[in-house]
This record gives sequence, structure tokens and C-alpha cells, in this order.
Amino acid sequence: MQVHGLKDRTQDLRKSLNDSLEGDIRDFLINEAELHTYDDLTKVNPVTPSTVLKCLQARYSAKVFYTHAGCTLVALNPFQPIPHLYSLDVMREYHSAPQPQEFKPHIFIVAEEAYRNVQGQVEPMNQSLVVSGESGAGKTWTSRCLMKYYATVATSSQKCQDTVEKIERRVLDSNPVMEAFGNACTLRNSNSSRFGKYIQLQLNGSQLLVGASVQTYLLEKTRVAFQAPNERNFHIFYQMMKGATEKQRLEWMLPLEQDFAWLPHAEKTLEEDCLQETVEAMINLGIDEGKRTQIFRILAGLLQLGNVDFSPASEEAQSCDLDGHSKGKTAYLLQVPLDELQSCLTVRTLRAGKQSVLKPCTQSECGVRRDCLAKVIYAQLFDWLVTFINNSMCADNPTWCNFIGLLDVYGFECFLLNNLEQLCINYANEKLQQHFVAHYLKAQQEEYVTEGLQWSFIRYQDNQGCLDLIEGSPSSIFSLLNEECRLNRASDAKQFRVRLQKELSDNASISWDKLSKEPHFTVAHYADKVSYQIEGMMEKNKDPVPPEIISLLQKSQDSLLHSLFADGDRESEGSRGHSKVVTVVSKFKNSLESLMKILHSTTPHYTRCIKPNPDCRPLTFKKEESCRFIVHGLVSESRFGLRSGYRSFTELFQPVYSVSADAITSCQMCFNLMSVVNLSCVVQLEMLEEHRNRVRSQKAFCIQCCWRR
Ligand code: ATP
Ligand code: MG
Repeated sequence: MQVHGLKDRTQDLRKSLNDSLEGDIRDFLINEAELHTYDDLTKVNPVTPSTVLKCLQARYSAKVFYTHAGCTLVALNPFQPIPHLYSLDVMREYHSAPQPQEFKPHIFIVAEEAYRNVQGQVEPMNQSLVVSGESGAGKTWTSRCLMKYYATVATSSQKCQDTVEKIERRVLDSNPVMEAFGNACTLRNSNSSRFGKYIQLQLNGSQLLVGASVQTYLLEKTRVAFQAPNERNFHIFYQMMKGATEKQRLEWMLPLEQDFAWLPHAEKTLEEDCLQETVEAMINLGIDEGKRTQIFRILAGLLQLGNVDFSPASEEAQSCDLDGHSKGKTAYLLQVPLDELQSCLTVRTLRAGKQSVLKPCTQSECGVRRDCLAKVIYAQLFDWLVTFINNSMCADNPTWCNFIGLLDVYGFECFLLNNLEQLCINYANEKLQQHFVAHYLKAQQEEYVTEGLQWSFIRYQDNQGCLDLIEGSPSSIFSLLNEECRLNRASDAKQFRVRLQKELSDNASISWDKLSKEPHFTVAHYADKVSYQIEGMMEKNKDPVPPEIISLLQKSQDSLLHSLFADGDRESEGSRGHSKVVTVVSKFKNSLESLMKILHSTTPHYTRCIKPNPDCRPLTFKKEESCRFIVHGLVSESRFGLRSGYRSFTELFQPVYSVSADAITSCQMCFNLMSVVNLSCVVQLEMLEEHRNRVRSQKAFCIQCCWRR
């Protein structure tokens, strides 16, 4: 995708101006009947949130789903299959075109540009395709589409190369497996990614795909034991329930008539509930029958574990009887000693020096231990799968020299109740947003410099304030959460809120709803404000695993389960002592920092997916819903124009744009947003030069107002 030079634009504009000398200046304004023909949003004039939305809506109605916004590609989710748009022929067409950017906007333009860039004019350069957007916007779909593109075009025409073909198959097969284990139906998206993923497609010197490696980020493992109302567990469980043969049902102890506490809405089946597809992909990846049997037995064991219940008991009693059937089935499927399963869930071992004392757990503590057992098994199993997939797809080091990275992380989320999971997800999105803004500002400045334009660059402010609030030092939400964890005391949500208020209220991105009774805090993210409950957040950050659970799993007769815990490197409560605790947020922050380093070392290409309506209905465009993401994407993409003394309009828009007042300037006459009016900015510059002496000010005027003057 070529960025049109400013000089070109200026020339275009001059021509248009001359053409319209006799005409009406309104010719420059949008012609609504033709709106759908604008394939680059920066060509819409004036560029305002309203005109941009109208343009996208018009294109959506005309079933045109891709639009450029300068260097960014905007992808509108059609919410229905559009097969002809992604056929092999279309892929080949874009791949073989001398100038694909002259074709209609398409995700394949981005794919092809990255592919050609890898070779580099001076030296080869790794590329990253960053797909962003809220939950349900189409990021995973787009990533899959990009993978298919490379698996098609980055292949040798000599079909005898068996190994290469296998690699392509394996790369594509990693998707159904990872999605079966890591995606779930949420309120926002029936196939929502509950983990982040950065996959590097490795290319050899001849630009052929020779391998891939995948890095995952923070799986939402709580889902295995807790599903919010109207949400589901991970797809794989439903696939097993729906797709098991009679023999497997017996083996897995999953009779059709049995209900499972951790499988809400078992009756609601989805396209994703296809066990056969997952199993075939597992086979192609090299997961043999023995391993598959073990995996499914462990998963069936988790379903049974979810049905284990505890009876209320007084604190002193040898409390908490387990439900006999499920307990026995769990022990059988996980191949752990039944009595130890019982005691591990219901009795704590307190250590005081060399002495240890057994203390029966209360009913709720038993529940917490049961959930913890399920979460730790599922998370380790997921990691094992990722490692396996990596070994299966990864090329030997010497054979690849460059990569194209595809980033697909969970989209921005705002539910009625949000906790640590959403804080981490939204924090990841903030990091990407910052990268996006910084990258484009840099790109713009470089463009101005190469074109020799006199341009006074302005200071701009991105979402650093919000990031400081979340992850900064010395004091931030993360640092305070970690401190709570280090103090190792019973966590109190109300006290924590007081601490947050005391230490962080100087930061403009945090606030508190005075009417709310629940301890919470609200963060003004770049996309929206989100309120987070504090209750439970500190425990989630500690993510403690009782040592009894680890030693139980180390006794499993199932070799896979045993191997997941054999080296005991999973930190457990007991191993902590006074040593440094690695909390969930610390780990996540570190892994995101590594990701950002990789992104910074590559050439990024941004695709911004837009969810046109909240109900995932086909071909329905609701402006209010699409607005905040579109507007934000555009502003980041826009040229940060001249500084204007005029503030009031800017201030009005600043909360929407989350950029500094200086970054937005408005026409003094008609109040068009100048920073997003690219073409106007060009004219404005020239006009200003001419008029500077006369006007004796640096006030900004858009095309038509300049003209009128
Ligand atoms: P999350 O952050 O929750 O993981 P996401 O952005 O990854 O969300 P997807 O799962 O990719 O969202 O998309 C949601 C659904 O939208 C898909 O399951 C698919 O049905 C539909 N969809 C997305 N993009 C397209 C497309 N280009 N063509 C047809 N359908 C699409
Ligand atoms: Mg996704």
C-alpha cells in the first residue's frame, strides 16, 4: 500500500481548486450519492467523524468491506460468509499484480505489501501485521485469512516438496486446535479468543514458508471453572459432548443425559463445536492417538471435577464431603489416588517451621481449591499444546532468515462486571494503541522530511497517562496489586480502594463512581471508560496454587498429566516463602514488553477491524457502535497538523480522541477538525504561507474557508 506523497496530494488539490475556480466550493464537500466509492477515508472531505461514518456505512451497504485510511486498512465485519472475496484466485490475483495497491482495498494488499517488504530494497526486514479492534470485530478471522494467504502464495510451485507442503498444512492446522482450546462463546462474540497470539511465519531466502512459531499470552483460565451468565466454557468441552462416539462416551464417562456444572448452555451448539475438525488438525500436527486419548480423558476429568460439590460444615468438623460419583470419576480420569484427591481439596497443611498441622477447609475454601485444580491443569495442558504445536511447525534455525508476524490479541472488552482479566486485556490493547499512534506519527514526520516540507511538528500526547496509571512506577494499579500480594495478608477490597485513591488520584485516567457500593475503580481507556471490581482482583493476581494440589498431580498415573507437573516449576503457595512472588500482572507485563520489543524491531502494518453492530447481525451498520473505534483509528492515522490557538472545539473533542489538545486543530471559521482533514491541511499550509503576513496570525482555515477569504 503506497502512501500518497504530500506533494502529489497538493498537486491534486491545486488541480481541483483550479477546476472549481468558477464552480461552487461545495464540489469539495462530500457527495453523499458517491460516498461508497471513496476507497480511502482520507479522501473524504471534510473528514469528520460523521462523514467518515457515513462513508463506511455507504460502503457497507454496498457490500464493500475494506477501506484504506491512509496507511491503515479498515475492515468492516460482514458477519456473513463472503466466499468470492477470499478465493484462491483472488489471492493469486493480488499476489501476481505488479501494483496490488491499485486494486480495490483488501486485506490481501496488506498481506502482499508485507510479503514484498520482507525482501527489502536495502536489506531484508521482518514485518508485523497487527490486527486490532474490539471483541467480535474480526481479528481472528482476519489472521486466519492472512495465514491462508501466505500458505498459498509463499509456496514452491514444485509440488514435490513434501516437507514444505506439510509445514503449510501444520501452520493452518494450528488454528482449529488453538481455537478449540483457547476460544469460547462470550456475550460479545461466539468465537472469542481468550488468549493472545503472535505467530511468526518463517520465510527462507527464496521467500518460501518453511516454518512458524507461536507465542501466546495470558489464557483466561478462570473460564474453565467459572462462566459469566450466558457465556460458555472453552469450545473443546462442547465439541467432546457433541462429537464423542459411543465408545468415547464410555471411555470419557460422559453419558449424554448428564449435566455438567461447568458446561452452561450445553444445548447451544455452534459452528465451532466440531470435534472431528479439531481431531484431524491434531493428527496433522502429529499428536498421536495415545496423546489424544490422554488429553480428552484429562478434559473429561475436569468436567467431572466441576460436578464435585461440598457440604456445609462447621469449621472444626472433618468437613466437606465430596459428592461420591463425580469424585470417583474425577480420580479415575485424572488417574490420581482418590483419598488424596479428597484430602487435597478439603484439608490444608499449615507449616510452622518443621511442624505441619492439618486444617480442614470451609465449604467455600474447598470450592476455591477445586477450581484451582481445574485451572492449573487446563493452563498447563494449553501450554503443553502450544509447545507441541511449536515443535511441529518450527523450521530448523538455519533454514529461515525472515519472518512475518501476525498479532491477534483479545479485543478491548467492557462488560457489566470486569475484573483482572479485562484489566489485562484492555492494558494489552492500550499498549498496542500506543504503538500504533507512535508508529504513525513517526511515519508522518519522516514523510514530511523526505518531501522537504516546512512543518512545525507538534508535541502530541498518546495514551501514556493511562499506561502510567496501569503499569507505571513507582505507583500504579499493577504495583499496588503486587504489593498487596507481597504482603501476603488477607486481601480487603475496600482497603485496596482507599490505597488506590490515596496513591493514584492525581492521574486523570482513574475515577470512582461515588454512588457505587461495590469497591471498584474506573479507568478511562483510549476506547472507553471501564469500571473494574476490586473484589477478587488481588487473589487473581496472586493466583495461588496450594502445594497439596501440585503433589497430587505429581502422583498421577497418567504420563501426560504427570509430565505437566513433574519438574514442579509451577510455583505453589508453599514454595513462596519470602522469595519474590511472580504475579499474574508481572508476568503479563513482561511478556507484553517482549512483544513490544519484537514489534518495534519489525515494520508494522495495521488493520483495524470494526464491529458494525453489537449483536453480530449480518450487514447491519449502527453508527453509534462503530463510532469510537473508527474515530480513534482515524485520528491516529491523521496528519497532526498546525498548532492553532483555538481551543474550545478541540476541548470538546479531546475526550473522544484521547489525544492532546495540541494534536487537534480546527478551522477557525467552520470548525472542521483540521488535524483529521488531511487535504485541507495541505492547502492550509500553503494558504497560510501566502496569507501569513496579511492575516498576521497562524490561525487555521480549511479549504472552503480559505477560499472564501
Ligand atoms: P475477540 O477479540 O473476541 O477474539 P475477534 O476480533 O477475534 O474477537 P472474530 O472471532 O475474528 O473476532 O470475528 C467474529 C465473527 O465475525 C467470526 O466468527 C465470523 O463469524 C465473523 N467474521 C469476522 N470477519 C469476517 C469476514 N471477513 N467475513 C465473514 N465473517 C467474518
Ligand atoms: Mg479473536
